[in-house]
Amino acid sequence: MTRPVIVVGAGVAGLSAAVAMARAGQPVVVVTKAEPPGINTFHAQGGIAAALWPDTAAEHAADTLRVARGLGHPAAVAVLTESAPAAVAELMAGGVLTDESNGVDRAQEAGHSRPRVLHAKDGFTGRAVWHYLARVAKADERIRWITDQVVALCGSDSAITGVYLASRETIAGRGVVLASGGYAGLYPWSTNPDTATGDGLWLAYQVGAQLADLEFVQFHPTVLKEAGRPPLLLTEALRGAGAWLVDEDEQRILADHPWGELAPRDEVAKAVWRTARAYLTAAHLGPGIRKAFPALAEALAERGWDLARDRLPVRPAAHFAMGGIVTDLWGATGVPGLWAVGEVAASGVHGANRLASNSLLEGRVFGLRVAEAVLGAEGPSSDKCGLAFAPPDPAFWIPTSVARQTLDQALGVIRTQTTLEDAQNYPWHAMGHLSDWLTGLMLEAAVKRQESRGAHCRDDYPATDDRWRGHLVHQKGHPLKLVPIGK
Ligand SMILES: Cc1cc2nc3c(=O)[nH]c(=O)nc-3n(C[C@H](O)[C@H](O)[C@H](O)COP(=O)(O)OP(=O)(O)OC[C@H]3O[C@@H](n4cnc5c(N)ncnc54)[C@H](O)[C@@H]3O)c2cc1C
Repeated sequence: MTRPVIVVGAGVAGLSAAVAMARAGQPVVVVTKAEPPGINTFHAQGGIAAALWPDTAAEHAADTLRVARGLGHPAAVAVLTESAPAAVAELMAGGVLTDESNGVDRAQEAGHSRPRVLHAKDGFTGRAVWHYLARVAKADERIRWITDQVVALCGSDSAITGVYLASRETIAGRGVVLASGGYAGLYPWSTNPDTATGDGLWLAYQVGAQLADLEFVQFHPTVLKEAGRPPLLLTEALRGAGAWLVDEDEQRILADHPWGELAPRDEVAKAVWRTARAYLTAAHLGPGIRKAFPALAEALAERGWDLARDRLPVRPAAHFAMGGIVTDLWGATGVPGLWAVGEVAASGVHGANRLASNSLLEGRVFGLRVAEAVLGAEGPSSDKCGLAFAPPDPAFWIPTSVARQTLDQALGVIRTQTTLEDAQNYPWHAMGHLSDWLTGLMLEAAVKRQESRGAHCRDDYPATDDRWRGHLVHQKGHPLKLVPIGK
């Protein structure tokens, strides 16, 4: 019997890979530690970027690279943008995504020079994409779906072949695709579900994979700021539709920016962060705005806010992890038998700052590519699936309050030398928690990068400095190193 490929994660990246492999006849085991709402993909609101005629991949690539602030890889961005139309075709044909051909405009989002964001009719694109892919995956008898947490990897002497679960079951196969999402859920103010804790980074690091760009966390500029309630994301598409960001005196806080409210995310987040009381308002757009964003209008109404009338208090919240496991253009990590794809990967497409709506696309495009790569790879020579390292205690996975506080205060939108250095004095690596281990690595990179670039903004080094035009790479047993772009 053909041995299965194990896919860790049931978001857009994992499910795209799993379905593609199963359609090619490959048995697949999908392991997910959570079901919706504990999956980031389910929450995506804006949409999925793809340059459909008369837009071009070249323009999409230019926007992506400009926003990436010198750290995007042109080859990876070319793969992303050129593969986009084909990668979204099934979702369009399946009625998940719409464009003007079936009655809904392509949306304009921050950093895009054109309206190119395809979305579901009700605006809850991630939910629609997830339901579609999950339905296809669950209907395919070559896919076994397990809800459990992967707590260790296993393999032979020469390759990773499977995973070890919290329930103490070992799933042996011919290789592992990590599609386990990012780590922005570790922050106390985050748009992510609290399952986005960077598990995959730790698993890959244990077996020698490289991690890059951990200092770059994108903050969504506008979540509804209400004490004691979970943050509610106010989609960028609202600003695309004409909503303004204003201060206490109703002055537009981005009035001087040439792109206004559609400036790149990092710039909008900094402007909101620096404004003592910032608000998003769509009141000047009239009642039609409720119809344009029906689900959001309803979610706001449930909390007592009227999208068409009220000034909504906002603050930035951690949203997307640019950092991740270093991969090539096919998801290979350099560790035999281990691939990584989606938000868990550092594939080179986002650089220092992700362009809005490029991450669902990344999951879809690279999910399909990784499937091809795994199918084309020679399977391992041995059936052995011994533990590659000891699984940690269950408490290891629970984020600590010291890590969460440090992420908020030292690794937030604007970083200061004193908060970074004070935080570094804590014995992060000795504490035996995933959150502490990752916070320690993020701090190390944030302290080392003495410049401001994209999502990494230091008040003591406000300028971008070409000497830092490279990736800070962590690897077990090696000191942190700067790898210049192109090396
Ligand atoms: C509120 C919100 C709005 C967004 N809007 C957009 C948007 O409009 N457009 C866009 O492009 N992007 C958007 N994003 C970002 C986008 O949703 C994510 O980057 C993308 O969905 C990540 O997909 P993924 O498949 O890599 O990971 P995820 O969807 O995060 O899935 C990760 C999977 O891994 C599983 N997992 C994790 N650890 C383990 C483990 N140890 N064992 C087993 N399973 C594990 C999880 O349970 C989950 O199934 C948004 C994100 C949020 C939070």
